[in-house]
Amino acid sequence: MKKNLFLGIDVGGTKIAAGIVDANGKIIAREKCPTPSGHAKEVLSCLFKLIKKILRENNKARGICGIGIGIPGIVDGQNGKILITPNIPLSGYSIAKILKSRFNLPVAAGNDVNLGVLGEKWMGSGKGAKNIVGIFPGTGVGGGIIINEKIYDWQAGAAELGHMIIEIDGPKCSCGNKGCLEAIVGRWAIERDIRKAVKKGKKTIIEKLAGKKLSMIKSKLLKKALKKKDPLVTGIMKRVAKALGVACINLRHILNPDVIILGGGVMEACGFFLLPKIKKFVEADKFFNKAKIRRLKIAESKLGDDAIIIGAACLIKQKLKK
Ligand SMILES: [Zn+2]
Repeated sequence: MKKNLFLGIDVGGTKIAAGIVDANGKIIAREKCPTPSGHAKEVLSCLFKLIKKILRENNKARGICGIGIGIPGIVDGQNGKILITPNIPLSGYSIAKILKSRFNLPVAAGNDVNLGVLGEKWMGSGKGAKNIVGIFPGTGVGGGIIINEKIYDWQAGAAELGHMIIEIDGPKCSCGNKGCLEAIVGRWAIERDIRKAVKKGKKTIIEKLAGKKLSMIKSKLLKKALKKKDPLVTGIMKRVAKALGVACINLRHILNPDVIILGGGVMEACGFFLLPKIKKFVEADKFFNKAKIRRLKIAESKLGDDAIIIGAACLIKQKLKK
């Protein structure tokens, strides 16, 4: 049997998803399970079970020639070791080695968002582009850079785009610094701004939509409030658009990529509002307009939740040079 399939795995804080991906980048089978909240042992055992299940229940699984896995944290791509993963108890684990000895297949590991960008390059909005930057604002803000078709991770921890500083002495970030992109456009930052304004007596439809519970405001609710032209949410999201626009211009001036891909929960829900504003902001970039350098493409992520599975498959495909 010709071995030309890849297993892509996306380890998330709430669920682990796996997919068998063919050589054309199509997911032909998938499985998922909730991420256990206990010890590393439990997470690994859940991961093993999931892989076993997808291998056992698909007659094509014999064609799998390698496993790629995306981890939300800092991963040393050279040896597949997880350095830090804040939301899952696997920091310090050599995940590639562990899976390789368990399943007797070659394994490659990487940061989940980096792999998401790689997935977009293979099958999504980055198709045909050589140099790509991805920014993914969800609860936090992930990022990834691809230069000359390869993930830019010469040193684990590079491409932490969410922590580039956008505003001097700006709001405090989860990392301890001030004014990071994440501290303005991450969902937790948007929630913080809404709560602060409500405390000051500002009126917003979000209070009604969220049932007065403003501790966690889903992106879907932000979308609803934007559609209803809620002044508070509209004002906050205008600032989000501007901060993302500034980030895009900064990245353009550093890397001048072919395309910047924007994805993540906040973009998926509120892209209709954010994207035109970000594009307009970037188009007004005086520095590049003067130089008449080709236009940078700003695109929305196409693959959504599948990006990491497809990117993980692509990583092991690249490693095996298939
Ligand atoms: Zn930060």
